[in-house]
Amino acid sequence: MTATFAVEDPATLEIIDHVPDLGPADARAAVDRAHAAFADWSRTAPRHRSDVLRRANELMLRDRDELAALIARENGKSLADAAGEVTYAAEFFRWFSEEAVRPGGEYGESPAGGTRTIVTHRPVGVAALVTPWNFPAAMATRKIAPALAAGCTVVLKPAAETPLTALAIARLLAEAGVPDGAVELVTTTDAAGVVTAWLDDPRVRKVSFTGSTGVGRHLLRQAADRVVNASMELGGNAPVVITEDADLDAAVTGTLTAKFRNGGQACTAANRIYVHAAIADDFVERFGAAVEKLVVGRSVDGAEIGPLISSRAVDRVTALVDEATDAGARVTHRAPLPDAPGHFFPPTVLVDVDPASPILQEEVFGPVAPVVVWDDEEEVLRQVNGTEYGLAAYVFAGDLGRALRLGERVDAGMVGINRGLVSDPSAPFGGVKQSGLGREGARAGLREYQETQYLSVDWPA
Ligand code: NAD
Repeated sequence: MTATFAVEDPATLEIIDHVPDLGPADARAAVDRAHAAFADWSRTAPRHRSDVLRRANELMLRDRDELAALIARENGKSLADAAGEVTYAAEFFRWFSEEAVRPGGEYGESPAGGTRTIVTHRPVGVAALVTPWNFPAAMATRKIAPALAAGCTVVLKPAAETPLTALAIARLLAEAGVPDGAVELVTTTDAAGVVTAWLDDPRVRKVSFTGSTGVGRHLLRQAADRVVNASMELGGNAPVVITEDADLDAAVTGTLTAKFRNGGQACTAANRIYVHAAIADDFVERFGAAVEKLVVGRSVDGAEIGPLISSRAVDRVTALVDEATDAGARVTHRAPLPDAPGHFFPPTVLVDVDPASPILQEEVFGPVAPVVVWDDEEEVLRQVNGTEYGLAAYVFAGDLGRALRLGERVDAGMVGINRGLVSDPSAPFGGVKQSGLGREGARAGLREYQETQYLSVDWPA
């Protein structure tokens, strides 16, 4: 009998379901099937792959409410966040159905004459995909869609906390016409064993990982052994910079979105809020008042903020806040906690945070908003850029020229200007420094699953 593991609802601590706990042998068998499917799938017409992906988009939207409820249940996020995630996740199928028919290529005469160069982009091969629990649908579709569009087949390991959404997406893909073997799922509690089996397998030519920087570094080292093509979407430590001439309403609303979407458990989540001294009191008062009104609880009860994913996550966020307050920070605003057994942490605003506090250096991954007051632009940029992360950043400024200038000087792959949301399937999502390598979404997302080849053709005079 296959071993199984339990999936818990982090808001109630109830067991929702059990799924197979597969191991390295199953991981290799999944590659057998994906490799066999690659032979045919990689030769299908781009238009065929496009049609299948388009159907996947329609089916996801057809099942939007059901999928949102499932995401909310196994991840804990609010139903509104979960429904937003389904739409966002489905959009990757639509976007890459449109990109599938534009594989690109070039034809040209070489400078010396006498030859012609034909450049093509071919599917890289079987791709191993590893995804986190915080966006169980979108992190999967952001990889599966471009991989299938390019003609690759995939083996996917979802996070053990949230395998049910990935299983539901796999069923929809089969209904959409994805052939057997083209998307193979391996649910497991032995992440290292399964992924090592894939990285050791010469038939696996690509690894695309979304998760923490620590695990990403480890996988890059493993991928080096066989020079496996690697895309890494890693951790973030997003700053929000608010200037003295910013539209305060936009800054408050945008920062609330950037901070509290997904309960703060997003790689793009605002981690540090730098407010100009001239408006700092006003900002904290208005932002804090909104934070105190956030409804924390179970998604089914209409909460805006769900639980953290685990008790370990609660301990980690608690420790970060305690270290900050021990060093002089003050809690100015806090939302009430529900009387419930889940892994809840109250949305919290911190001021007077010591610049050396770990809460400003590390990814918080929870609903805590540390506010830092600034009055010198060069100094705030030094603090903003003084971390190894470089995923997202947000700038709120009244003068658009100044906002753009600041945006260009921030070390981040993505900068929200006067808005608290940067994710968009048509834009190249990804980070600089230790936040990652490669991009997802946009045309760039397709290229991650393609190899460039050129044919140099002798040309008769
Ligand atoms: P994680 O690194 O612990 O886990 C991510 C995935 O890797 C999971 O599937 C996990 O099972 C697997 N994994 C863990 N250890 C492994 C190992 N030794 N070998 C192979 N696989 C292993 O991250 P998490 O806690 O699930 O997710 C949160 C992190 O993900 C945060 O750091 C967040 O910033 C990051 N994230 C980044 C993006 C992005 O696009 N840049 C998006 C979402 C989340």
